[in-house]
Amino acid sequence: MNKSSLANNYKRRNLSFKKGIGSYLYSSKGEKYLDFVQGIAVNTLGHSNPNLIKALNKQSKKLWHVSNAFIIPEGEKLAKELTSKTFADKVIFVNSGAEANEAAIKVARRYFYSLGITKKNRILCIKNSFHGRTLANIFASGSKKMTEGFGPNVGGFDHFKYCDIKSFKSKITKKTAAVFFETAMGESGIKVHTKKFLRQVRKICNQKNILLILDEVQCGIGRSGKFFAYEFANIKPDIVPIAKGIGGGYPIGAVLMTKKVSKCMTPGTHGSTYGGNPLAMTVGNAVLSEVFKKNFLKNVRNNSRYFLNELNTIKKEFPKIIKEVRGIGYLIGLQLFFDQTKFIQKLMDYKLLTIRAGENVIRILPPLNVKKSEIKLALEIIRKVCKHYKI
Ligand SMILES: *Cc1c(COP(=O)(O)O)cnc(C)c1O
Repeated sequence: MNKSSLANNYKRRNLSFKKGIGSYLYSSKGEKYLDFVQGIAVNTLGHSNPNLIKALNKQSKKLWHVSNAFIIPEGEKLAKELTSKTFADKVIFVNSGAEANEAAIKVARRYFYSLGITKKNRILCIKNSFHGRTLANIFASGSKKMTEGFGPNVGGFDHFKYCDIKSFKSKITKKTAAVFFETAMGESGIKVHTKKFLRQVRKICNQKNILLILDEVQCGIGRSGKFFAYEFANIKPDIVPIAKGIGGGYPIGAVLMTKKVSKCMTPGTHGSTYGGNPLAMTVGNAVLSEVFKKNFLKNVRNNSRYFLNELNTIKKEFPKIIKEVRGIGYLIGLQLFFDQTKFIQKLMDYKLLTIRAGENVIRILPPLNVKKSEIKLALEIIRKVCKHYKI
């Protein structure tokens, strides 16, 4: 019997940490680990970033929380920053990815409602995707594993096959209000939509008066090498939920949207007690001031190219172990030919932390300011594990 008083809804590794600095975590036993999980793409600037600490400390002595019944200047600033650098005109702040996604769905439905097109309310998603663990989101994901035992089903969601434009077209009806998927899929196995697919979807959405919601909770905030992954396809979405990377470790979520759709969100249509509080917004502003620095994202793209190339070299050396190197920017997946659990454990034995994703994928998520020497160290460890791996 497990001694912990925590519920058993996680399969936790037998490892805990006492501190983190940059790309490294220090275990309770004093061992040093190269952390390429970073709280699952959350710690954009690594652990204990001095600028984030400074911002948080300073704000913590002034004001933590006030209600959204009042103006919050720190949130005004973060929203201004997010809209000036992206497709969006308006922002609603929440606290997590799942919440941001639910708010995005609400905005899409309310938009057509506000136009009097009340029957246009269905959301078209990808089969076996991931949008978070709240009731609506698990049914949006269309995954049997996630929804099992949690009925009655939340209705209003249809599903098409990943990156399959034929399947996508065939699932559209007059009732389709929005199409909703991740620009680059994280949990489901690091699957990056092609630019062609994204452009085709955008075009069809325009033709059929359907809103495009791109979940950038994991791939957003520079993780892809651009601020948003959709920028690679040169398209503009209508609604983008974000979370993970924007807070750099502080829980923040947000929905970004165009002016056109934002008009339907009149007073009382959505809200959150904590969403957008001064402490959270101050940290968000500190994260963005780093990410928007000159050459920051260019560095992510350049170093990522090196990382992916080197991983492909390792793949060629071990063609029976690595099936595919996947990813974009620092959202990287190593797909194995077999279950990845033991491999992840071996990497951990050599002091490199990674995390699983769907389809036998090992997910590699360094902080965006990772040093090239740290990437080289990770490559060394991956090669070493491949060498000693008994299939
Ligand atoms: C993590 C994640 C979510 C859920 O975010 P939470 O903060 O855990 O609620 C939703 N969508 C995507 C793509 C994610 O990666």
